[in-house]
Amino acid sequence: MHAGRSGVTGAGYLPARVHTFGQWLLERYGQRVHKVTINAAFTCPNRDGTRGIGGCTFCNNSSFNPSTELVAPLEAQLRCGQAVVGKRTGARLSLAYFQAYTNTYAPLDQLRLLYGRALAVSGVVGLAIGTRPDCVPDGVLDLLASYRASGKEVWLELGLQSSFDETLLRVNRGHGFAEYQDAVKRAHARGLAVCTHLILGLPGETAEHAKITLDRVLEEGVEGLKLHPLHVVRETALAVDYQRGDYRAWSLDEYAGLAADLLERTPWDVVLHRLTGTASPELLLAPNWCAKKWPVLNAIEAELARRGVRQGGLRVGAGLPERPASPGPPAPGLPGLPGLPGLDPLATARPASR
Ligand code: SF4
Repeated sequence: MHAGRSGVTGAGYLPARVHTFGQWLLERYGQRVHKVTINAAFTCPNRDGTRGIGGCTFCNNSSFNPSTELVAPLEAQLRCGQAVVGKRTGARLSLAYFQAYTNTYAPLDQLRLLYGRALAVSGVVGLAIGTRPDCVPDGVLDLLASYRASGKEVWLELGLQSSFDETLLRVNRGHGFAEYQDAVKRAHARGLAVCTHLILGLPGETAEHAKITLDRVLEEGVEGLKLHPLHVVRETALAVDYQRGDYRAWSLDEYAGLAADLLERTPWDVVLHRLTGTASPELLLAPNWCAKKWPVLNAIEAELARRGVRQGGLRVGAGLPERPASPGPPAPGLPGLPGLPGLDPLATARPASR
């Protein structure tokens, strides 16, 4: 099965069942906006001894960015990425996605310079900043909030992975759930949108752990989510465990079933930035279905279709529109953010705990 750029998968139309980030951006800007990934040659405090050494047990940074040594100027990376995406999708607008390593781990003046350079590139309407919950001091959040106040799109992407401290300890994350709660609270106090990254299939975790983690994240309040299957990639501590038989990789059915469970629990106003992830075939040991994203998206969409539901648990059919009505564009000059009370024309109330 294959899915095209419209989001129509072999099983159906994904945005009819999942509030995807692409669809959210389309509704908000009236045209396609794509993330363009850049590598600004940051490092990570969980690798250099500041928070820990050795990094997370699953992390080989090459698995999500192969060029941590030789990095082109970020303007060149952005223009190149924009050209590729523009050719494929026709998108003229983009978000600069600072992805590799910990993209707030530098002195504030350096961050201001880097973020400012990215925002100055033609067609860039905002930033997505990937980082750790324990690496977002107030000065960094104030800087990001200043971009948002000037009308830029800003997403703070926090890698939480699990809300269970014992799991975080086991994978050597170097932070606990309390740091995440604190970071979210301070980000929201500044009106910043938070996208939380969760990994399904962490060592020692079951589907129940993932559901509890999601419930805790929703209870804290969140505007976006990224779901990701745990990849076993070469040259990691996890790879050693896997090869020893101490870690079992999840099947596609297990992952798609749990992703559907989590989507059913997630209110429609929380935007799904990602439902799976891929790793390069040279690095990926398991699960082998992680090599391509569309079969995984198809499986999740098909599972939701089989249940007759979409994100948030609404049953499709019985008089409901197949696709939820667009909330319409944000008010001019007011960058709307889902889930931020008082700021957001798109926000809908939701219970504190689901
Ligand atoms: S996964 Fe992120 S936080 Fe963990 S070691 Fe790798 S770059 Fe650092």
